[in-house]
Amino acid sequence: MTLIHACPATERRHAMVEFQLRARGISNPGVLAAMGSVERELFVPPALRARAHDDEPLPIGFGQTISQPYVVALMVEALELTGGDRVLEIGTGSGYAAAVMSMVAAEVCTMERNEVLAGRARATLVRLRHTNIHIHRGDGSRGWPDETSFDAVCIAAATPSVPAALLEHLPQGGRMVLPLGDPHGDQKLVRVTRGESGYSEEELTDVRFVPLVS
Ligand code: SAH
Repeated sequence: MTLIHACPATERRHAMVEFQLRARGISNPGVLAAMGSVERELFVPPALRARAHDDEPLPIGFGQTISQPYVVALMVEALELTGGDRVLEIGTGSGYAAAVMSMVAAEVCTMERNEVLAGRARATLVRLRHTNIHIHRGDGSRGWPDETSFDAVCIAAATPSVPAALLEHLPQGGRMVLPLGDPHGDQKLVRVTRGESGYSEEELTDVRFVPLVS
């Protein structure tokens, strides 16, 4: 008889999916599968690896954080991605959310203003062979360098109002998810959808993100 031992990180990932995500209402099968397969422990500083699957954000240096697993799943689910979608992310951070999105979308373009974080994220994503992710170092509040459109935009840092340059990337039917409110206080996670005759806004939950710096 052969005994197959799941490695502890795999077990922790599966427990994270069941108890932090599915139990709280995340139901999109693609999102659950992506969260169950991306090795979150490789996106946190080595000293914090044992806590990588805890139900909380963790520091990744420079005063920045990798978001709580539930918040990543909620944002990605709210973006309603399909396999053909192109996504723009502002705030690459560790690269974890980009990795998750790259498994449920065709292409992820992600921007990070901090050069060291952008470099680390790039190294991690190359190592894990996420070939459909492009990282650009720069101020994401000004939008992606060329005037392309994205089916979905994910902003991973808090802002008091929706940056106009990012709205311009959204075609009709496009979705944007972002933390709106006081960058140093309480914020609401909001989904903005571009319809035929303008934008509609829905509040998803209360959140606390680091500030969008521009
Ligand atoms: N999605 C990340 C978490 C992002 S934390 C993850 O999965 O790990 C927010 C990130 O946004 C930080 O790394 C911060 O440096 C970056 N950031 C803040 N303002 C920015 C801006 N104007 N343009 C690009 N990145 C920005």
